[in-house]
Amino acid sequence: MSLTDQFGRAITDLRISVTDKCNFRCVYCRSADPENHKPDHELLSWPELERIARILIGLGIRKIRITGGEPLVRPGVEDFMARLKSLGVRDLSMTTNGHLLADHCDRLVAAGMNRINISLDSLDPAKFEKITRTHSFNKVMAGIDRAQNSPLRPVKVNAVLVRGLNDDEVEAFAAFARERDLIMRFIEFMPLDADRHWTRELVVPAAEVQRRIEARWKLEPLPHERSETARKFRFADGRGEIGLIASVTQPFCGFCSRIRITADGKLRTCLFSKDDHDLRYMVRNGHTDANIADAIRAVVNDKEEGHRINQSDFVPPSRTMVYIGG
Ligand code: SF4
Repeated sequence: MSLTDQFGRAITDLRISVTDKCNFRCVYCRSADPENHKPDHELLSWPELERIARILIGLGIRKIRITGGEPLVRPGVEDFMARLKSLGVRDLSMTTNGHLLADHCDRLVAAGMNRINISLDSLDPAKFEKITRTHSFNKVMAGIDRAQNSPLRPVKVNAVLVRGLNDDEVEAFAAFARERDLIMRFIEFMPLDADRHWTRELVVPAAEVQRRIEARWKLEPLPHERSETARKFRFADGRGEIGLIASVTQPFCGFCSRIRITADGKLRTCLFSKDDHDLRYMVRNGHTDANIADAIRAVVNDKEEGHRINQSDFVPPSRTMVYIGG
């Protein structure tokens, strides 16, 4: 059984946002208001999330990434992941801001998680505080240490580059990847921020990042699956890898294999979808698994060809990143 869309793309990757709450206030993601999250009763319960995941696995989903908000702030996430693993998910991962990772790492590994993405937008503690509006730099570094000393592989560190904020750290991040022998990924800033500050001028193109790193070190391209978001490179002389996620300047929508479930139970076929499809209503109003599976197939069939950021008619979606999950 497999899910395909009208363009013949196989949809095998699911991102599940388990909460819209977060213990960070990253300036390129959410507003400073600590209370801008939905009431708990609007969020899917663990059994509801598991039911939807089970239906999607039955439809051919093979990879699941757990996102938020910040997934580790919701108690019970490890048990939920263990449930997903027992349902036959081969590739189980998480995107976290790392603040709670050192405390949760062993339980995540025990739950069957395979790999991890950790956000780190600055190597300068003062700038880190400016970007995240927290004092968590050391906690995040401890989380990265803990992940690297665990069976989780690969360990990827993600930085969203914003012109004038942290683009001066490209070379430092590359050196960090070499020192730590990890995968450092540079993500282009996307128009999904709550404060709507995004402009094209704030985007640091992946091509520039590659050029600046290659001015210091020789890079060798690495093979990658067509549906992967990152173009990958290794350092020719040894340790560490680089990933470039050029969502804005070099879109990779043509081979997109992803769909998302939001914490409040909406199916989104694209990060930039204008529409949400309400699975929570179906789950809470007596619809059968077969009904829900049919609804999912129909929605996925109509998946957008891609984002329209580079088209003149582009309008950012009303739902911002923290309510979608990366
Ligand atoms: S923007 Fe949408 S279609 Fe493009 S890669 Fe992302 S989720 Fe897929």
